[in-house]
Amino acid sequence: MLSMESLVGAPLTIRYHASSLLQQPVGTSECHRIEDMLPDSQSALVAGTILLTHTSRGMTLAGEGTADVMLMCMRCLNEYCEHVNFTVEEELHPDPAFAHRRGTDGFEVDDEVHIGPNHVLDLGEIIRQHIVLHLPLKPLCRTDCPGLEELHPHG
Ligand SMILES: [Zn+2]
Repeated sequence: MLSMESLVGAPLTIRYHASSLLQQPVGTSECHRIEDMLPDSQSALVAGTILLTHTSRGMTLAGEGTADVMLMCMRCLNEYCEHVNFTVEEELHPDPAFAHRRGTDGFEVDDEVHIGPNHVLDLGEIIRQHIVLHLPLKPLCRTDCPGLEELHPHG
């Protein structure tokens, strides 16, 4: 299971070699199961699919998945497992100078995500960022969690 601590680092190791797809005609797509791309020790962390498409400007990623993340309930402060559903939408360009990242809100720009000169894509980092984007703003162990005050009322 993922945790907030692990999500600060690099919990997912997926190095995708884009060169074979980029040698295919524009419009060619590959669909991969995320759990199949992860090393065995990480394959239980994330489930989902990623569609990679060669475009005239580079490639696009589209996908969706689920990750179990250990979060702390903001009311009772207990840790609980949140099933985080996430989507991935990225447009990637081979030249880092033109690399940009389009977040779910359409205005995010991030120079860190690009296809490197050796066409190796850090797909694990892209998925990690999208899991983080989809974490709940107000984590609750359950929607009717009574919180600390009700569990331990004063007097
Ligand atoms: Zn709670």
